[in-house]
Amino acid sequence: MDDESRKHLRQCWGCDCDGESHKLGVRPVGATRATVEKIADGIEKLTGYRPPTCPWRAMWDPLVGPIIDIARMGEEVPGAPALRDDDPQILWDAVNVYLRAKRSVLRSDEAEEIKRLQAQRKKT
Ligand SMILES: [Zn+2]
Repeated sequence: MDDESRKHLRQCWGCDCDGESHKLGVRPVGATRATVEKIADGIEKLTGYRPPTCPWRAMWDPLVGPIIDIARMGEEVPGAPALRDDDPQILWDAVNVYLRAKRSVLRSDEAEEIKRLQAQRKKT
């Protein structure tokens, strides 16, 4: 993808991740915008949250990386105290949001895989 295509994609998301594409002030219409809306619809349907910018922009939030690390630690090391009772509520809330979204995506992926396998069986 060339620089102009990336800039157009950022404009369609209304994203400021390159520091300038959002300055257009309006989001372009067309095929790329329609694709962006479908992706945002899918993310909202799966997670309950519609991304206000491109999904990668969320990684700029100083909480996101540590929350993913905390959630992974809790999943990968059974019994490990990823959060303590006296940790700030925002950390508990953020980990819960992340884990709910992750479970929803995994369930959706499993359902799609089952559909794919059933369709494959019908062909044979
Ligand atoms: Zn972006």
